[in-house]
Amino acid sequence: AKDMVKALVDQTAQFKPASHLNQNVTALEEEDGHFVLVTETDRFPTRSIVIAAGIGAFSPRRLPQACAEPWYGKGIFDRVANPDDFRGQNIVIIGGGDSAFDWAQQLRDRAQAVTLVHRSDKYRAHGSTIADVQAASSAGKTMLLPFHELHDVRAEGGKLVGVTVREVKTKVTRDLDADAILPMLGFHSDIGALAEWGLNLQKDEIVVNSMMETGRPGIYAAGDITAYPGKLKLIATGFGEAATAVNQAVHWIYPDKKVNPGHSSNMAIFGQKDD
Ligand SMILES: Cc1cc2nc3c(=O)[nH]c(=O)nc-3n(C[C@H](O)[C@H](O)[C@H](O)COP(=O)(O)OP(=O)(O)OC[C@H]3O[C@@H](n4cnc5c(N)ncnc54)[C@H](O)[C@@H]3O)c2cc1C
Repeated sequence: AKDMVKALVDQTAQFKPASHLNQNVTALEEEDGHFVLVTETDRFPTRSIVIAAGIGAFSPRRLPQACAEPWYGKGIFDRVANPDDFRGQNIVIIGGGDSAFDWAQQLRDRAQAVTLVHRSDKYRAHGSTIADVQAASSAGKTMLLPFHELHDVRAEGGKLVGVTVREVKTKVTRDLDADAILPMLGFHSDIGALAEWGLNLQKDEIVVNSMMETGRPGIYAAGDITAYPGKLKLIATGFGEAATAVNQAVHWIYPDKKVNPGHSSNMAIFGQKDD
């Protein structure tokens, strides 16, 4: 995925688009016949918009236990930026989905010990990853603790040193050494301001037609945020929808121009005169 994103960034860089990162679109306004996209820090006037907001702005679900809250960023991490940060550590992963199992698998050879704690024995991860982690558990390389949940965080001298987990039915507790706790509990998604933009919505998705129109003239959508009969949430479909949406948006801005996608095989687009 990283390689694909890099290739896409490199390809678009040829056209020198302006990028404004680390901003959240919070509102849409209309001014003198054009839209204004509003973020926390900027206002972007525009005649057309393509929304590709996926499942919306999303944030990791936090552990519900109050004892965990003070330790976020200081021993409890809900994102793994660099797996090598956990080399040689005792890691307790909490969760039963893909992220929990993927990290249990990937940190196994780096960490001193990996324990995966889940409140049931119903896992929602890819079958082969579950089988791999279960095999590692049988071989004594990973500890799997189904039917357990976080009970308390243990600290010494202001440093997280362990965790107390509790069996959900019997309430029997056990202490585990832990240098880091990784809650992998899924994400909250929120389409936020988009809900008030006058688009055709179905739950948290935008209903589009075959031109990727959203119900509000001049606004198009593509990717996971869209809904239509037969929609597949895949990268390949998102690419196709984005091409349609962008071509329609250009046509909206310049109605006299035909909808006419360029081909990357036409080297003139890249400034080359002779093929
Ligand atoms: C675990 C997993 C594995 C997958 N594996 C595959 C696979 O192997 N092959 C495949 O084809 N597909 C796969 N998919 C699906 C694929 O990831 C999605 O179809 C694709 O990422 C959708 O792209 P998108 O651009 O529509 O949305 P996203 O990739 O979700 O991007 C949306 C972006 O919009 C941003 N955003 C949202 N709201 C705002 C706002 N208000 N202001 C500013 N920014 C905002 C978000 O932060 C995010 O960066 C997988 C999905 C998951 C969850």
